[in-house]
Amino acid sequence: MSEPEYDIVVLGAGSGGYATALRASQLGMKAALIDGDKVGGTCLHRGYIPTKASLHAAQTADAACESETFAIRSTFEGIDMAIAGTYRDSVITKLDKGLQGLLSSHNVKVVKGWGRLTGANTLTVDGRDITARYRTVEYNLAGNRKSNILNTQGFIKLVSVENGPIVGFHGNGSRR
Ligand SMILES: Cc1cc2nc3c(=O)[nH]c(=O)nc-3n(C[C@H](O)[C@H](O)[C@H](O)COP(=O)(O)OP(=O)(O)OC[C@H]3O[C@@H](n4cnc5c(N)ncnc54)[C@H](O)[C@@H]3O)c2cc1C
Repeated sequence: MSEPEYDIVVLGAGSGGYATALRASQLGMKAALIDGDKVGGTCLHRGYIPTKASLHAAQTADAACESETFAIRSTFEGIDMAIAGTYRDSVITKLDKGLQGLLSSHNVKVVKGWGRLTGANTLTVDGRDITARYRTVEYNLAGNRKSNILNTQGFIKLVSVENGPIVGFHGNGSRR
């Protein structure tokens, strides 16, 4: 049997997956990281980071409304969702670049594509077999659920708050 291409192949490049690949590299392993979507996964692109950027905007609006308590006179005129979206996307872009640089500096090979296990130590990504001494699969199985409730993905892309308050939203994970 020929030598495996990598020491470790990680399927899914979310927080769990890229941390695994980075750590493996720090331990001297040749690592590959596979994702059909963007490196960074739910947390960076659809979860923690975008919602915390929006939360920061909301907290700033709160601070403006309550500023007189702290002897600051200000007038709250509303929220420009387009600018809030640009701010959110700029945070994601900055962290995305940082993460890609980190993976590159650790020589983690990032492979773009949807993979599946096809053997004990083989993953097939878009028809190409990738072999590893070890392999790990980490992906969030929460999946998307169809419903008329505004989910987090809808919330993140919200362009207007004119139709009333957001009462709550249902969290979900990545797409596969
Ligand atoms: C709105 C929201 C807010 C959140 N806020 C917080 C918070 O404040 N604090 C906190 O700790 N956590 C928070 N989370 C949770 C956090 O985002 C998740 O716990 C974290 O992203 C899970 O990481 P993961 O690597 O397991 O999965 P994911 O980040 O979902 O990554 C899985 C990756 O696998 C890829 N993948 C799946 N199947 C395949 C396949 N067959 N082939 C190739 N790639 C595949 C996907 O494209 C994805 O990139 C939040 C989540 C959401 C949705």
